[in-house]
Amino acid sequence: NTGMPNTATPTPTHCPYCALQCGMNLTPAADGTVEVSERVDFPVNRGALCGKGRTAPAVLASSARLTSPLMRSAEGTLVPASWDEALGRVAGNLARTRAEHGADALGVFGGGGLTNEKAYTLGKFARVVLGTSQIDYNGRFCMSSAAAAGVRAFGLDRGLPFPLEDIPRTGCVILVGSNPAETMPPSLRYFTELRENGGTLIVVDPRRTRTAEQADLHLAPRPGTDLALALGMLHLVVAEGRVDERYVEERTAGWEEARAAAMGHWPEYVERITGVSVPELREAVRMFCAPEAAMVLTARGPEQQAKGTDTVGAWINLCLATGRAGRPLSGYGCLTGQGNGQGGREHGQKADQLPGYRRLTDPAARRHVAEVWGVDPDSLPGPGRSAYELLDALGTGIRSLLLMGSNPVVSAPRAAHVEERLRSLDFLAVCDVVLSETAALADVVLPVTQWAEESGTMTSLEGRVLLRRRAIGPPDGVRSDLEVLHGLAGRLGVEKGFPTEPEEVFEELRRASAGGPADYSGIDYRRLAEEGGVFWPCPAPEETAGAGGDRHPGTPRLFLDRFATDDGRARFAPVSHRPSAEEPDEEYPVLLTTGRVVAQYQSGAQTRRVDELNAAAPGPFVELHPRLAARLGVAEGDPVAVVSRRGRAVAPARVTAGIRPDTVFMPFHWPGEGRANTLTNPALDPTSRMPEFKVCAVRVEAVA
Ligand code: SF4
Repeated sequence: NTGMPNTATPTPTHCPYCALQCGMNLTPAADGTVEVSERVDFPVNRGALCGKGRTAPAVLASSARLTSPLMRSAEGTLVPASWDEALGRVAGNLARTRAEHGADALGVFGGGGLTNEKAYTLGKFARVVLGTSQIDYNGRFCMSSAAAAGVRAFGLDRGLPFPLEDIPRTGCVILVGSNPAETMPPSLRYFTELRENGGTLIVVDPRRTRTAEQADLHLAPRPGTDLALALGMLHLVVAEGRVDERYVEERTAGWEEARAAAMGHWPEYVERITGVSVPELREAVRMFCAPEAAMVLTARGPEQQAKGTDTVGAWINLCLATGRAGRPLSGYGCLTGQGNGQGGREHGQKADQLPGYRRLTDPAARRHVAEVWGVDPDSLPGPGRSAYELLDALGTGIRSLLLMGSNPVVSAPRAAHVEERLRSLDFLAVCDVVLSETAALADVVLPVTQWAEESGTMTSLEGRVLLRRRAIGPPDGVRSDLEVLHGLAGRLGVEKGFPTEPEEVFEELRRASAGGPADYSGIDYRRLAEEGGVFWPCPAPEETAGAGGDRHPGTPRLFLDRFATDDGRARFAPVSHRPSAEEPDEEYPVLLTTGRVVAQYQSGAQTRRVDELNAAAPGPFVELHPRLAARLGVAEGDPVAVVSRRGRAVAPARVTAGIRPDTVFMPFHWPGEGRANTLTNPALDPTSRMPEFKVCAVRVEAVA
């Protein structure tokens, strides 16, 4: 790396990967490398890091790093180009597509790992410079069902409406479809401390994961049936007289319909659907209802379903009926996955949203943001396609795409189809740090800076806004995403409004978010540096009625007095069990579920470049039960083909009794023959537009 500060003082910052956003110190060494050391002042991880965070600097110095723009030549290969040529070609192609096919033929695809400043600027760029409605991001594939269910129930979505530090002090936690032991290992201490303090942990997962091994009770439902499981528990809550009638009366609405729906889900019926026995259901209800306080935390398991919003809604119903939401040490929360999965959905890169978590269809929101942006509100486009629908429309409705911070060739459902759609585009530009599988298809690749080479803010799974600091300079030839958008805006005739300094962008973001649900107006870089993080909403003093100009403290805990609905009451959702979009049949008799392993992250674009992580997790595998393996004549390590209606993937068998006999599991971090997302089903949730990553029907075959 070049341009490194002449100092060995550690820079306190945060990990580039998951939503826990662990604190770490970075120190540049004389040989150009960067050392990671413990940062004990950040309370979430208190210095602990998983292997991904510890080895993150390896990606900064990776030989795979791009240090020059690349342009596709007449011969079809990617060749180095100057920044002027590359930006000129991107701007020229975007302008040509718009002139020939209209603004909505331009697509923009962002990512949940982008800083708040980048997500904000990307949304503004799409709507103000390109004038397109066609912008969405990969966070749609992450937690959008939890967000939709949270808004429906509470009037507001903040992943965790309470800080992680509340977990050890509650009485019982139900973790649904979440495996923090692998996805965010330093967070496991919260659950260990919970148990040390006398609390109980229930894990709902079709696999006996490392997290499930630590649980007091592990429920292993058939994939796609946890909605029924939650309803079965609610049925028992009612039948056993455990409803908190006073709370339901005072703080909720819609109970009668939700109660009626749950009463149709007899425990024996739920046992038949889920495979979870009635005694197990009763035990779960007893454990959840016994203490004064309890929580339900969901992750991708219940969320990545074509009924994800209702599945999360069913778990929220359980919390509401037992008086667990909006009370100290109790509630429902979502453990967001991507680094800025929370902030990434708040600042306008989502198809239906404006900064501050405002709705794009709300006239007052449009007026407010348009004023900050200095444009006519009527010039702002309306909502566009959701992420999978956008990718599916490439080459037809959408002719040119600008993609930043995502690798859908590996991470999108029905990935072979998405890859084919990307290839059919008139023009594709990708900003990335390495030549990802998606960047390799591009007409222009723009090499950009990484976490440690730039400043910016991230919003963690707790809703805590954090400052990631620049610790080193970027390599020669690399520019920041903000510089890319500034350069493109200028070439497309918009000279102002696209600053390249993150703090300047944040100052504008503060104004754009002021008065919105996710209000950041009382937060600035100085404060973040001083306090180590601030929970939103945090209005500026002038917006805090009666505060007399005092600094707003931020809001670690939401909903304690009222929910964010018009009448302050939480809403039950009258939901019922329904089958997954694809149920097993004779041709495809087994269920596939997908997920992560501890040593890789998302599409692996970064972590697959780290030797230590590759040694720990070198490639994909198919986890299957010994009974299924015996039926197929497959032994540990034998190649196994998994075939769905979308394609075929091959990977070595990993035989374990820790998975249901009717289910196989594949991690999704790898491209090529073992790409799990070749198989996954893009059936969408009608509300959140989340694809059904977590369950589809497959056939499993031994490979000769
Ligand atoms: Fe980074 Fe997440 Fe690991 Fe923490 S748990 S070090 S944030 S990847």
